[in-house]
Order: sequence, then structure tokens, then C-alpha cells
Amino acid sequence: MTGAADGPGAAGAREPASYRITDFHVHIQPWRQLKPQVMETMRRGKEEHFEFLLALMDDPRLLLEIMDRDGIDRVGMVNYPSPRIMGFGDETNEFAARYAAAEPRRLLPYGGVDPVTNADPVRAVEHLLELGIRVLKLHPPHQGFAANDYTRGLDALAKIYAICEARGLPVLVHTGTSIFPGARSKYGNPMELDDVAIDFPDLRLIMAHGGRPLYMHEAFFILRRHRHVWLDLSGIPPRNLLEYFPRLTELETQLLWGTDWPSPGVRGMRENVQQFLALPLGESVMRAALEMNARRLLP
Ligand SMILES: [Zn+2]
Repeated sequence: MTGAADGPGAAGAREPASYRITDFHVHIQPWRQLKPQVMETMRRGKEEHFEFLLALMDDPRLLLEIMDRDGIDRVGMVNYPSPRIMGFGDETNEFAARYAAAEPRRLLPYGGVDPVTNADPVRAVEHLLELGIRVLKLHPPHQGFAANDYTRGLDALAKIYAICEARGLPVLVHTGTSIFPGARSKYGNPMELDDVAIDFPDLRLIMAHGGRPLYMHEAFFILRRHRHVWLDLSGIPPRNLLEYFPRLTELETQLLWGTDWPSPGVRGMRENVQQFLALPLGESVMRAALEMNARRLLP
């Protein structure tokens, strides 16, 4: 896999332009709905361009310009209702669909259903499909449940997994901590996905963030045990990726490139790609993560 031409020695020559990159996980969301303290956390460290970021959430043309500049072909726009913690309501799904309509090939809308507060989760998932939502996002620390809480009576969650499995809608689950006020990071342990992968074997399940920064051992175990679970690399500083996952190449068929931009601590989509391309990894792993796997999952 790492021949002379594509071994670590060639890393410096790699260019983002050589790949048709899908950034599987960016945050284009109705930020104006954020609760005041959450908004403050979001603003921290990007005070000078925060007004621009708010405008970006209103205007897909601004995002497409940034994608062109950064050499990003497609982005997955993560949205999910989190009425109690973040402030987003169900209309976040309509927001994502409307935003993506500006350039549907390149802007992939993700949506969600809050299993704790939604009274009719099956209808809600059907509505997402009608809107053209490409991935259903669950955020346990922001929605207040564990990803396997259907084993303890949260029936709405089993219904969501079952209909997504039947209809082929991939489910993306946040793992790892969250720094936003009110977030319950105890729900970020990837071990809970063991139950989900066993009980819903045909579900296309994606683990976001690899449990960072606390649960990487659990994350790696789940990914090795369940080869149909994908790993979204967003939120992990790319320069430290091989410290987090020293055996990353063993997950080649499961890797999905993502940045979490413009969340706290993420400088830019292109900067992250460049850091990733500088890692001592073979060409086939790079291409699988940046390009091929996302095109298999979301053609
Ligand atoms: Zn995220």
C-alpha cells in the first residue's frame, strides 16, 4: 500500500487539488437561534469574523465561494434539533434543505429528530426524507440520551434507527465530549454504538469524532468489530490524528474526511486538509478518506 511513490516521502508533494474532497461534517446551522450562552461559546476565538459567519449561515453563495477557494467539492451540513441545550428547533431541518437547494450536488443537507421530545419520530423521519435530507444526525450530549437508550425504554430511538435502516438513511452519531454549556458529555462514549450496530445490522451508522478526546480506545474497538460502521474524522486535529488512532490505516474502508468547521478550534477546511495530507499515510488511505468512501456512502 505504501510503495516508493506514495510513501511518507511523497507527503510534502500532496495537494488538496488532487482530490475531489467531501468534507463530511461542517456546521452550517441557523446560529441566530442559539441560546445566549451557547452563542458566546461559539463566538469565542472568532470575534473578528463572527458577523461574517452569521451572514454565511444566511447565504449559500458565501459558503460556495469558500469551498471553491479551499478546494472542497462537497460538504455535509450537520443540523439537528436540540431545543433544550443548543436552542435549535425542528425548523433547523427546513433550514438545511433550503440552504442546500442553492447547489444540491455540492451542499448535502443533514437533519435530525430529537428522540426525547418528538411525539411522532417515524413521521418526523419521513418528513426528513421528503425534504431531501441525506443523513440523520443524533447528538446524544446535546439531546440528552445515550445512543443505546432504546434498550432502557426510549422507544422513539429504536423507531428512528429502524426506519432509517429500512429506508437507507445513514445515521451520524456524535461521540466524544462537547464544550457547550449544558452538554452532557457522559453520553459521548462510542461503546453505546455496539448495541446499535448489533441490533440494526443493515443501518448505515457513522461515528463522528472517534470519541475524542476521551474514548479513542472504545471507538477503535467498535470500528474493528463492526466493519459496517464508518468513522467521521471531524473534530480531531489532523496533525494529532495518528496519536489518537495509531492503527488508522486498518480502518481505510471506513474513513470519512470531515473538519467540524467553523466550530471552536477549527481554523479552516483547507488548513485541515493540508495537515492531513502531511501525515505519513499511504495514497490509498488518503484517497479513501478524502474522496472515495464518501462517494460510496453518499453518491
Ligand atoms: Zn460537529
